[in-house]
Amino acid sequence: MSILTELQDLTGDMRGWRHHLHAHPETAFEEHQTSKLVAELLTSFGIEVHTGIARTGVVGVIHGKATGPWVGLRADMDALDVPEANDFAHRSQHPGKMHACGHDGHTAMLLGAAKYLAAKRDFAGTVAVIFQPAEENEGGGRVMVEEGLFERFPIESVYGLHNWPGLAAGHLAIRPGPQMASYDIFEITLEGQGAHAAMPHLGRDSMVAAAQLVTALQTIASRDANPLDAIVVSVTQIHGGDTWNVLPQQAVLRGTVRAFDASVQDLAERRIDEIAQGIAATFGIKARLRYERRYPPTINAREPARIAAAAATALVGADKVDLDPRPSMGAEDFAFLQQARPGAYIWLGAGPGQAGCMLHNPGYDFNDEILNIGAAYWVELVRQVLGGADA
Ligand SMILES: [Zn+2]
Ligand SMILES: [Zn+2]
Repeated sequence: MSILTELQDLTGDMRGWRHHLHAHPETAFEEHQTSKLVAELLTSFGIEVHTGIARTGVVGVIHGKATGPWVGLRADMDALDVPEANDFAHRSQHPGKMHACGHDGHTAMLLGAAKYLAAKRDFAGTVAVIFQPAEENEGGGRVMVEEGLFERFPIESVYGLHNWPGLAAGHLAIRPGPQMASYDIFEITLEGQGAHAAMPHLGRDSMVAAAQLVTALQTIASRDANPLDAIVVSVTQIHGGDTWNVLPQQAVLRGTVRAFDASVQDLAERRIDEIAQGIAATFGIKARLRYERRYPPTINAREPARIAAAAATALVGADKVDLDPRPSMGAEDFAFLQQARPGAYIWLGAGPGQAGCMLHNPGYDFNDEILNIGAAYWVELVRQVLGGADA
């Protein structure tokens, strides 16, 4: 019997867990009820459970019938600060928060796979199911690594998965090398001299300088970086001024840089500062830069990427697996796990992705049709890494 058929029996469970999680979203490091539910379910499956890693993180340990290497499978559990626009029965009951990235589905699929693997244990080695907090913005994956994830559990390779609207439902996509970008943030404070708006010559205007700076920063991608290196520099906030007739003393610009290579991040950090200082000098004001590297790029190691692709192909057939998808400029804190151990991160197609079902959209809802395929991917991956039923 194929894994997909076998896992069909768990689809109802997974849908139930998923809808419960969707209705009760919790954000970064506050996933207390989610974490409790995950730990209780894993325990009920007969799995050894470790809680409190990175505050709300949970690791379940499933030993196979024979000994062998350890493999880590990771799901994220956190929701977003987005007010939900849906009105179906399982809509968010927590105002201002929702599962707009499908981490409810990721958690449910890994729970389904864990239940199946714990019942069978037909592999040679140990599976660690890793449920991490705070994937969005706060780097829960980094905190798990810092709190000894790989020292406490001798995991040799690690795998991640994300649902992907825009890719056909049930298709999978993975490539060796970069799959997702780095995520850096910057804040530039322009310090001028406030003045009456009718008498700009008596002050030093930070607003005109801010406007020039937004435009000039775009030349990092178009004139500083090698055209063959991907980079995005986006100014996402401008703050300054309180009223109609005052030129404010200060303007603050914030934004984000995405790239696939540390040398490109270095270039961006250096050029943002040089351009800010240059513009400030031009307008006779001062500039101060704060640049913070949040997430490294998600780089799939060659061998895990090959194994993940083999599992995907065995599961859904070569015609439904894209082995050379274009990387995304989005970011993923799974990158921290990949820095610690060889790993591979795959996209699971979630469907057409029309308006209303793209990630982080207030109308998004995880596609329940792919729960079965995601869970089956984990099971097939364990077979590929640790051997099959003969173990
Ligand atoms: Zn996500
Ligand atoms: Zn997200």
